[in-house]
Amino acid sequence: MRVIQTVSELRSWRTTQAGGSIGFVPTMGYLHDGHLALVRRAHAENDMVVVSIFVNPLQFGPHEDYARYPRDLERDLRLLEPEGVAIVFAPSVEEIYPPDFSTAVVVRGPLAERLEGAARPGHFTGVATVVMRLVNLVQPHRAYFGWKDAQQLLLVRRMVRDLALPVEIVPVPTVREPDGLAMSSRNVYLSPEERVSAAALPRALFAALARFQEGERNAEVLRQTVRTELAASPLRLDYVSVSDCEVFQELEQVDRPALLLAAAWIGTTRLIDNVLLDPGKRSR
Ligand code: AMP
Repeated sequence: MRVIQTVSELRSWRTTQAGGSIGFVPTMGYLHDGHLALVRRAHAENDMVVVSIFVNPLQFGPHEDYARYPRDLERDLRLLEPEGVAIVFAPSVEEIYPPDFSTAVVVRGPLAERLEGAARPGHFTGVATVVMRLVNLVQPHRAYFGWKDAQQLLLVRRMVRDLALPVEIVPVPTVREPDGLAMSSRNVYLSPEERVSAAALPRALFAALARFQEGERNAEVLRQTVRTELAASPLRLDYVSVSDCEVFQELEQVDRPALLLAAAWIGTTRLIDNVLLDPGKRSR
């Protein structure tokens, strides 16, 4: 496993040493089993795996947690070592954004503007810009993204289609803790009490998913199930939405593949989670 920290070294690896198919896993580090699921899938489907570790300042708002976002490169490398990763790309901010960096990739429409896009202005421009830059540097055949960040996954897929980028976006199911909480680097922010309460979010989503699986197709009933479940918890709901997977519009009836998405605050930590609602299937 080789650790590369500069753009020039990555370019020279890509042009002179990389061979066969390349699977790429972009991350912000502080790795957990969710990230490792992406790495393992990439390893199973490609000859070489590249993992990037870069806390992207562009995707954080001015009052968000960029400065305190957890970082531990040594620990991340220890976790990646047994996974058969060829390259870990861990650049500095200056490598990715030199002082004269002047370009932004802007996705428009509901995928960029609703829900996470509305709650975090500029966030998805930051995501699209860094993903574009990293994909152009690594030039992978496939890139792996988690359903955990479903709106991000759909937005990246949109950008890849719109700009005809020669990469296949591969979605990977959400990895959860035993109590259902989706794994996230940000879970370290939770106090022990908050950590216990946080499981109310997946519980609420799974309660609604159970109703969907019993045949409920009215989106408002599903949204209301989430609201009711969370009302009895210390979580403060930010949004709950039933959005289709293509256009990302709010649905009244779940008559096509959709996502039930929710964001909620516990203390000063914001949690996001979602479950897939596929009317063609009985369960995910
Ligand atoms: P992050 O480091 O949080 O930016 O995440 C990097 C990638 O890992 C993104 O594609 C995430 O969607 C994915 N990811 C994060 N948490 C999970 C999880 N619990 N299960 C599956 N994928 C995840």
